[in-house]
Amino acid sequence: MTEIPNRELLPMTADLNDAGRLTIGGCDVVSLAEMYGTPLYVYDEHTIREMCRAFVGGFGTEYPNSHIAYSSKAFSSPALAKILEEEHVGMDVVTGGELAIARAAEFPAPEINFHGNNKGRAELEEALDYGIGLITVDSMYEIDLLDEVAHNKGITQPVLLRVSPSIDGHTHLLTATGVLDQKFGFPIETGQAEEAIKHALGKSNLDVLGVHFHLGSPLFEIEPYTEAIPYVLELVAKMREHGLNQRVFSPGGGFAIGYVSDTPPPEISEYASAISASVREACDRFGLDEPRLILEPGRAIIGRAGVAVYTVGGTKDIPGVRKYVSVDGGMGDNIRPALYGAGYSVVKANSPAEAPTGDVTIAGKYCESGDLLVKDAPMPDLAPGDVVAIASSGAYNLSMASNYNMSLRPAVVLVKDGEAKLIRRRETYDDLLASSVM
Ligand SMILES: *Cc1c(COP(=O)(O)O)cnc(C)c1O
Repeated sequence: MTEIPNRELLPMTADLNDAGRLTIGGCDVVSLAEMYGTPLYVYDEHTIREMCRAFVGGFGTEYPNSHIAYSSKAFSSPALAKILEEEHVGMDVVTGGELAIARAAEFPAPEINFHGNNKGRAELEEALDYGIGLITVDSMYEIDLLDEVAHNKGITQPVLLRVSPSIDGHTHLLTATGVLDQKFGFPIETGQAEEAIKHALGKSNLDVLGVHFHLGSPLFEIEPYTEAIPYVLELVAKMREHGLNQRVFSPGGGFAIGYVSDTPPPEISEYASAISASVREACDRFGLDEPRLILEPGRAIIGRAGVAVYTVGGTKDIPGVRKYVSVDGGMGDNIRPALYGAGYSVVKANSPAEAPTGDVTIAGKYCESGDLLVKDAPMPDLAPGDVVAIASSGAYNLSMASNYNMSLRPAVVLVKDGEAKLIRRRETYDDLLASSVM
């Protein structure tokens, strides 16, 4: 079999067909591009399910009382919600909109956890009306607000408190959420976490099950988790005297995936064994019963499953400087390179095995000079009409997509065993005008 470059970054079913083109889930990517147009996002159902199983099985083996909740901000769709439910994976939402998607899929309410640092009253009411299992509160105001909303509905709502352990997950500044100076979580270092827990324990319509932290994303190292876990569980132990009876503990998500071949992520099993051991040791040390452990992968479940497919247009070759190859998408469907300087790997879908002839920079079509999808990637010759596929595009691309430049957000297909199912149609000009008031 001819090797596809960056195979380990592409969906697990990535292959070459007799025509020498890239296939995913048994579907010819170039044919998909012809049928659905580009930009197109292709999600491989097999990879999604395998990643769910790697988490459910990986953590389940190490720590049987564990639960995996997919962070739906990474990519949200009713079709995906159905797959998650079948794989016994719960769901985190951070807005009423993400909850609406879960509801549209009739996702089991007890398996939903509502995160976010500033949920509104209406959002909390919607969540309680749907009967969601858990709400993670993140401010004194929210503790009071949720208690009031729950009281009005005659409900005692199970909650976690989000705490901030002042630990640097060594990710990008804009995605670091464990350090002291950022907006999420009650800081432990300053004593504010303690105050918040006491405050919440005094609320008659809140049942405080425990605490949650999330260090940021993606975390290519395991040490930040194993450093934070005992520190946070020490606080939990200390709070027993104030009446905290820990039943749930959540060290969040943030598990890395590969974007470029020289920065491989840890295996899921490595995260699972280190995190489980760390929770167990800390519970033992502080005399805590072992809680139900909730892990919240988003990127690691959906990132590798998705590829972004574009058609090549014009080229600008600046002699001795750089060669720009423009495609028909860009920062509107993938803001990550512009926002975080994120790196990606690209393959020529109509001829993946062709030898590279030089470095190219894949440019988007948006009116920003920072709209570059991949910088200086070794590629075979590219001509107008060629189709390129950018790997590891399943997470935080479409979920952050915009209509900048009044561009149409892409279609999405789910592929499996040679069949493609459209799960989101491409937007139309009518969609752009649908919310305008004339
Ligand atoms: C974003 C987020 C996650 C998921 O992060 P990933 O890197 O996608 O795994 C999990 N928990 C919380 C609270 C989050 O905000």
